[in-house]
Amino acid sequence: MNLHEYQTKRRFAQYNIPVASGKTATTPEEARIIAEELTGAVVVKAQVLVGGRGKAGGIKLAKSPQEAYDATDKILGMDIKGHTVGIVLIDPASSISSEIYLGITNDRAAGKPLIMASSEGGVEIEEVARVNPSAIVREWISPSLGLREYQARNIASGINLPREHWAAFTKIARNLYRCYVESDAVLAEINPLVITGENVLFALDGKMVIDDNALYRQSELAAQRDTSAEPLVETQAREAGLTYVKLNGQIGCMVNGAGLAMTTMDMIKLYGGGDIFPANFLDIGGGAQADRVAAALRIILSDPDVKAVLFNIFGGITRGDEVAKGILQALQEVPTDKPMVIRLAGTNAEEGRAIIDEANIPNITAASTLTDGAKKAIAAARGEI
Ligand code: GDP
Ligand code: MN
Repeated sequence: MNLHEYQTKRRFAQYNIPVASGKTATTPEEARIIAEELTGAVVVKAQVLVGGRGKAGGIKLAKSPQEAYDATDKILGMDIKGHTVGIVLIDPASSISSEIYLGITNDRAAGKPLIMASSEGGVEIEEVARVNPSAIVREWISPSLGLREYQARNIASGINLPREHWAAFTKIARNLYRCYVESDAVLAEINPLVITGENVLFALDGKMVIDDNALYRQSELAAQRDTSAEPLVETQAREAGLTYVKLNGQIGCMVNGAGLAMTTMDMIKLYGGGDIFPANFLDIGGGAQADRVAAALRIILSDPDVKAVLFNIFGGITRGDEVAKGILQALQEVPTDKPMVIRLAGTNAEEGRAIIDEANIPNITAASTLTDGAKKAIAAARGEI
């Protein structure tokens, strides 16, 4: 889950990382009032979950409250790389003498967090890595020792930071690491960390990505999710308790269990002949209750590329007849004429198949094995059955 710049900087402030004392606005009038309170010049910054806002026109300097009003009026509603701006951050403007990159992420190969810095701040780190990889300085952090002072100094020296800033830089780096760990982040980034005209260091821009798997214990952060910035189906899936990942194929997959879902996708790919692929990963979890199946079906069918749906349900604790009833009830809630192939296995699978046969729904085909199911779904997607 991504945090907005203003959310990230609020979090940074809790960890004593210096940030500007700005406020957010959702109307030009609000922006004017904030600019009046701040006195002096301000920057109006679009809050969208995508980088490169500056280049896209989403960051404007305003020398007066009226200019802040006008800039906000222009930026709100703007489309930045497919994200519509609904909120702006009004920060006091600062004079900048240099821009540094400082970020922490997980290095999965090393099994450790990695802190990276570069004297070429302001640009995206991927760009620096491509154009001038030697400008990036790295230190791997031992999770048991944390970021050591000497490591922070190595970085400061590696990016040729003037010595007078080393103490402040070390504090910022160590606070950033604490913030990263305690937030269960997979990325915490200051870009740019600036040296101002007054010769002080502070975080001009911030970005954090929180590990979705840790949100259950990060309720304060989880509550800050901006659902307007993500695909509608992903919000719906999460709210229904489903794990859903959209893919680019033609066969919608409705499966209980992550391992079985992966196997189902593999089978479609195996028999798909190089032109038919799974349209999604979907784990409806245990139980396969009607409301969940209905929610999942709605999500699968909202994808216009889906030509056929393959149900692959293994009844373990859940009985096949209950699953079958759930599917039929879901089909009443979400009527469709798309071809559907149902493979039921496990406890009471025969009873379940009988229930589906009795319902006699023309666009439903039963399959006895997964191979059979995958082949039938592929044929249906090709319009062959
Ligand atoms: P991003 O483009 O989405 O990464 O947004 P940033 O907040 O990083 O801003 C992009 C660039 O705008 C920065 O690297 C700065 O060069 C410039 N900028 C942002 N705020 C200010 C400010 O208060 N004063 C000045 N002079 N430049 C700023
Ligand atoms: Mn930035």
